[in-house]
Amino acid sequence: MTAPPADVPLDLPDAQLPGVLGAALAGLYTGEPRLPARPGGRAAGLAALHAWTGAGYRERNHLSGNVSRLSMYLRHGMIGIREVAAPARHVLRGREQDEFLRQLTWGEFFRLVLRQEGARVLDNLEEPKYPARWTDALPDDVRAARTDLPCVDAWVTHLIRDGWLHNHERLWFAAYLIHWRAVHWRAGYAFFREHLLDGDIASNALSWQWVASTFSNKPYFMNQENIERFSGSRWCRTCTANCPFRGSYEELEARLFSGRLPEEALSGEAGAPPRAAPAEEPAAEVVPAPIQPTGLASPRVVWVHGDGLSVTDAALSACPDAPALFVFDRPFLSGVPIAFPRLAFMYQGVRDLAAARRAPTHARVGAVAGELAAFARAYGAGELHVTRNFTPEFTRILAGVRAAHPDLRVVVHEPERLTSYDGPVRRFFGFWKKVEREVLQGAPSPDAPRRGHR
Ligand SMILES: Cc1cc2nc3c(=O)[nH]c(=O)nc-3n(C[C@H](O)[C@H](O)[C@H](O)COP(=O)(O)OP(=O)(O)OC[C@H]3O[C@@H](n4cnc5c(N)ncnc54)[C@H](O)[C@@H]3O)c2cc1C
Repeated sequence: MTAPPADVPLDLPDAQLPGVLGAALAGLYTGEPRLPARPGGRAAGLAALHAWTGAGYRERNHLSGNVSRLSMYLRHGMIGIREVAAPARHVLRGREQDEFLRQLTWGEFFRLVLRQEGARVLDNLEEPKYPARWTDALPDDVRAARTDLPCVDAWVTHLIRDGWLHNHERLWFAAYLIHWRAVHWRAGYAFFREHLLDGDIASNALSWQWVASTFSNKPYFMNQENIERFSGSRWCRTCTANCPFRGSYEELEARLFSGRLPEEALSGEAGAPPRAAPAEEPAAEVVPAPIQPTGLASPRVVWVHGDGLSVTDAALSACPDAPALFVFDRPFLSGVPIAFPRLAFMYQGVRDLAAARRAPTHARVGAVAGELAAFARAYGAGELHVTRNFTPEFTRILAGVRAAHPDLRVVVHEPERLTSYDGPVRRFFGFWKKVEREVLQGAPSPDAPRRGHR
């Protein structure tokens, strides 16, 4: 049997990515093709994990705090959430350890909300908690980093240049856009999606909704003192702008929200959204049977997607000898292109895993369902294995595969989780109380954070 030709060669050196990958993906990205600020791939992810000491994580809310910057590797499954939690439990101590594991748990919480709500996470999950009148478009001066506010312009510049922002900068920028500029959170979500290397529907959309108060009990906002304190006065020291963030929280609240906000959540699940109907039913699928070792003439193929770009991915681990395919989703990316560095970052992940596998791995550009069906036929496969993700596209693509290749058996493997909790999710605090002991593997340290800053 001859291997089907791969559209995108998986041995391109980094120097050729802007040229060769840029040409293969023409029309699917914004801006100039250039390399990501940090290299993608499992090797780079593991190197970043091992290089991070975690010392000083307790100061994580300060821009100078020693945060891990592992989000882009976690997002694409280049390293696993348990793989990150395990060394943190050994290396970090006391409150520092608890805080880090708690932050990791935010990511799991958001994924579980996505699993529960499906595509609804892209709409207001709740009514805003103040009389909001938002416009839809991202203002040109914001996109161009020409607001005349040095801090805001720096956040935009860093977002585009690095594909990453500190959590506090993300919160400040989101609050600025939604509350000061009265722009709908969806425009901010789309801007982040375009540029973040860790851009992810769950953490991104739900964090924006958390700031907007459509997934929280009140809007998040900050004042100039807060920015100055947590940025080490990085911008304020020399700033001559007419600062819109200046004022007490009471003054800003009156100015931004036409008066008082609702009282803070009473506790736990209070003020949580009403229970919604379950998200769109997943298409009928087969869960994995015990895996038998297979030879090279395997009747299986594996679909590798952007959440599992590592040989440790569940479907790839289960089928080490099966040919695997990654597809750059042409119809999807033509509709909502993203900046090139993110595509190159993913390419580097696929390239790493192709080099690490003994079975063939291919990358193509096209419509995912059709490409998968053709790939399975070309290899004479009777089974397609894949690791589940909770995005609306996943369900849509599997339905497309079934339509294009009704005889193909689809076997869905479960992704790695940090917790075993499988009930409904509503607010982080309530979720945390249920999983805290499992995540921390014991009682919290005496000075562990309670509710506080997210
Ligand atoms: C408006 C907005 C949009 C965001 N969009 C994304 C996104 O698209 N993808 C994304 O991974 N994170 C997103 N975040 C969450 C958070 O800002 C990043 O995960 C974090 O800044 C990544 O840096 P780090 O790896 O150094 O984090 P660390 O503090 O070192 O935390 C370790 C890991 O825990 C997880 N994590 C930490 N904080 C959060 C959090 N608040 N929410 C969810 N997960 C968290 C991440 O996987 C992170 O890599 C967003 C936050 C805001 C306010």
